[in-house]
Amino acid sequence: MKSGERTDIRQVAKQKFTDYLTAHKCRKTPERFAVLDVIYSDSRHFDTDMLFETLQKDGFPVSRATLYNTLQLLLDCRLIVKHHFEEHRAFYERAGGAFHLHLVCTGCHSVTEYQDAELQRAILNKKIKKFKAAHYVLNVSGLCTECARQLKKNNKKK
Ligand SMILES: [Zn+2]
Ligand SMILES: [Zn+2]
Repeated sequence: MKSGERTDIRQVAKQKFTDYLTAHKCRKTPERFAVLDVIYSDSRHFDTDMLFETLQKDGFPVSRATLYNTLQLLLDCRLIVKHHFEEHRAFYERAGGAFHLHLVCTGCHSVTEYQDAELQRAILNKKIKKFKAAHYVLNVSGLCTECARQLKKNNKKK
């Protein structure tokens, strides 16, 4: 992605968030915009702990309460989407990103994003009765090579 393009996405998101906060009479605090900026600087998904740490590292420490509250606002105005790869842990990522798969390892719980042009064509060209597909994010569970290797080693020991 070109850097100019990236600035654009951030600007558009910022404007959308500003409009939303104004319309809903919410305060436009620098903390809320710092959260948005961090999210839109990186296309990968994240959980609240990762976001909390990134904000601290960037010199923008926000409280957990502010973080949760801001994430809820961003969900409400559809600037981010929420995923549940694991039952008790939510992951977020910015909305409107590229079509992709989430490869979820059931061993170490790592999540890798994966893009495939062939699969994308297949899904978008698929004729589904009374439905026209426009976007997708697929979650595929399995084992990463590291966990598969570990499993094989453990099985040998038995
Ligand atoms: Zn993703
Ligand atoms: Zn793994």
